Amino acid sequence: MPKSLCISCRTKLPPSELIGGLCFHCKKKGIESLRKFLPIIKFFGYIYKFAPVYAGFIALLYLFFNFSSTFALAILIMVVFITLVISVLGMIPHMIPYSYLLDHMRELEGKFELEFEKYTQCLSKPDASGRQCINHPNQEAVGRCTYCYEPFCAEEFIIVLGKPLYCRNCAMLIPTDINYWAAINGLLSVCIPAFVGILIIVLNFGDISLITAIGFLVFFLIPFGIFFGIFLLYSRMKCQIKAQLYPRHAPLYDPSK
Ligand SMILES: [Zn+2]
Ligand SMILES: [Zn+2]
Ligand SMILES: [Zn+2]
Repeated sequence: MPKSLCISCRTKLPPSELIGGLCFHCKKKGIESLRKFLPIIKFFGYIYKFAPVYAGFIALLYLFFNFSSTFALAILIMVVFITLVISVLGMIPHMIPYSYLLDHMRELEGKFELEFEKYTQCLSKPDASGRQCINHPNQEAVGRCTYCYEPFCAEEFIIVLGKPLYCRNCAMLIPTDINYWAAINGLLSVCIPAFVGILIIVLNFGDISLITAIGFLVFFLIPFGIFFGIFLLYSRMKCQIKAQLYPRHAPLYDPSK
């Protein structure tokens, strides 16, 4: 079988040694950095839930007292910006269906260590053992599942966005639905104060700079952009996974496309 490149370090390796396009060493680095960022993800995942409450409260105050001075609006735009950062960092990891991987870090790391050990042992053997599909010993693997890290042949891979990502077993285990509550939380937190900012500028039109208005509008649109981007990407992934797992239910799907 022709060799493939690790998408990160560009080392040439047999496809059976690549996990979602990454070699074992790069994958290990990836898992380690995810472990490092986990406390940050968890922190924002906790505080972003309160963002609609405080942002909504501030927006109400502004609306009620009609705070329309340049200084007051500068404060509001800062609030919107900070809320945007908190919400985006909190919303994205909780919105994507694979976020549950974050809750299974220990399990993932354990599986990885086990496969890494098996793989290192195989390297010292002169024959090509360890490069075959674990279910079809006479077929060479086309890659490793990004969830269980075991090598599989093409037949058993679920191709997602053109890449062999999961084995059939793991594809059935991994949830594919987006968490809309996380998205709504993020959208409300940012869009309410941003909308109030725009409203106040419109109501007090005349003495307020256009740049502030554009700022509010941009901040208003960013969460929508993120939401639709993730929504479209994961709907496509979900569709592809379902079509390959249950081909009878998707007669129109053509895997060659
Ligand atoms: Zn690599
Ligand atoms: Zn798997
Ligand atoms: Zn196989």
